[in-house]
Amino acid sequence: MSQLEGRAALVTGGSRGIGAATALRLAEGGADVALTYVNAADKAAEVVAAIEALGRRAVAVRADSADPAAVVDSVGKAAAAFGRLDILVNNAGVFPFGPVEEAPLAEIDRTLAVNVRAVYLATQAALPHMGHGGRVISIGSCWGARVPVPDVALYAMSKSALVGFTKGLAHDVAPKGITANIVDPGPTVTDMNPAGTDVAEAERLRTAAKVMGADVDIANAVAFLAGPDAQWITGTTLAVDGGYTA
Ligand code: NDP
Repeated sequence: MSQLEGRAALVTGGSRGIGAATALRLAEGGADVALTYVNAADKAAEVVAAIEALGRRAVAVRADSADPAAVVDSVGKAAAAFGRLDILVNNAGVFPFGPVEEAPLAEIDRTLAVNVRAVYLATQAALPHMGHGGRVISIGSCWGARVPVPDVALYAMSKSALVGFTKGLAHDVAPKGITANIVDPGPTVTDMNPAGTDVAEAERLRTAAKVMGADVDIANAVAFLAGPDAQWITGTTLAVDGGYTA
């Protein structure tokens, strides 16, 4: 569990759900962890306290991923807090829902700003702080690969953009010993996707396992990609979806 000893991580959107579980899992592995949040200061403080209880350093930074300056600033604060940055987890995301004809311009812009532009900007800001063994891990979606349902075209567009970005990035950073990968969660129980709703039930039944995932299932995959055992894995997508895309 100590494969990440001495490493410094930044998890965007680390106050709740998959991001919070990932922040904790990286700390369990030995990393110091910075996290961003936009509204839930109380939840962010709880995650910080839980990480500190593990004996690791933690810091929470309020940074709206839709705000380019805030994104860049949060990366600088994370690197300053720990004196280094080894692992960037681009997790913060929003989930717009509805038919293509009805999405207002503001929703299109915000979705692309949070789910796509912030990933690019955080990565751009993080790379100068990263050395050999650095990791850029972005949280995509099972709908980045296949879209078997209506009303999610905007979200799917935003998540599939991460594929091209990550494949290109893998080439750019490989000479520095840095890897870039995506984890694609299937339906995972969080505030974004609570269990028991009609939508969640339909999604659960589309998995091979007929169960929704837990936030820690995704966190475990991120921790693997962040560690030394994944040093030769880059430019790819790891589906963690109970067979949703099988
Ligand atoms: P939640 O809604 O449960 O949590 C979202 C987290 O992101 C919170 O910490 C939230 O902060 C933060 N966040 C949201 N918007 C912003 C913003 N503008 N700036 C900074 N932080 C922000 O989501 P999940 O944990 O379910 O999702 C995490 C990632 O996984 C997302 O990228 C999502 O698209 C992806 N995903 C989720 C699936 C699922 O079934 N749950 C399936 C496939 C992909 P705050 O607490 O302050 O609001």
